[in-house]
Amino acid sequence: MAGRLGLKIDVDTLDGLRKGVPALARILGERRIRASFFVALGPDNSGRAIFRVFKQRGFLEKMLRTRAPAVYGLKTMLYGTLLPGPSIAAAATDILPRLTAAGHEAGLHGYDHVRWHDGAGRMTAAQVWDEVQRGQREFIRICGRPARSFAAPGWQATEVSRTVLAAAGFRYASDTRGQCPYWPRFGPRVNPLLEIPTTLPTLDELWGMNGLTDKEFFDLILCRLDSGRPQVFTLHAEIEGGPCLDAFADFLDRALASGVQFFTLEDWAAELLKHSQRIAAAAVYSGRLPGRAGMVSRQAELPEAA
Ligand SMILES: [Zn+2]
Repeated sequence: MAGRLGLKIDVDTLDGLRKGVPALARILGERRIRASFFVALGPDNSGRAIFRVFKQRGFLEKMLRTRAPAVYGLKTMLYGTLLPGPSIAAAATDILPRLTAAGHEAGLHGYDHVRWHDGAGRMTAAQVWDEVQRGQREFIRICGRPARSFAAPGWQATEVSRTVLAAAGFRYASDTRGQCPYWPRFGPRVNPLLEIPTTLPTLDELWGMNGLTDKEFFDLILCRLDSGRPQVFTLHAEIEGGPCLDAFADFLDRALASGVQFFTLEDWAAELLKHSQRIAAAAVYSGRLPGRAGMVSRQAELPEAA
């Protein structure tokens, strides 16, 4: 049976928005595929991520393996450090409405991507609320309505962040890595906001590992689509919309040729919420993933096995 695949496209940087998003929208449009874009709408402080080198095991190795300076460009790597972080929202004014007019989903990928990625674990509810509302204000200014979906930068979700996101009125979030949609459980408390996790590895995690090329990476992803379960793949405007655009377009062609059906996360969320009693709860824990520096929030186990 051919698989079903949701494309979750994270936009972390100004360059990713200005160059990667239009490139991805073009190759998706040519193939009549609709996808879910999540955009960080605050300052692009990517340069500050460099300081993770000193704090997180594996970050320097990953930066070098994925040729980060070539992918992101030297200027982006200095934003927020030697250069002031420019506003991503200011450049999104035309780009976001064009995306939604083309049938894509647009959601919020936080406000200051680096601040959330590195600090979400220590943020108070008031700090999370402030971060979310700053993003929403920009989203409303650009799109004329609030974002209905949220994807946590760096897959960093806590009980505090999820409580705030639920109160902020999002329909669902995609904050974690896991196997299937679920209600996130923190200790005994179940969060009332539907979670649709990323189920597949990302290119930046495996690219270059044991010499793996981008094309070989997408061979692996294609093999994983036959599992019978819908899958969610996270890609990055800076990577698949940049140096790996051709490999990604080739992957889309091969997926379509083998009958894979694409869906947006918001469409899937609407389907799932019609039968919300069928959605199971699962614990969230903080764990490592191959090729990714630091910890991410993960779905504990398949609900069926619980
Ligand atoms: Zn991101």
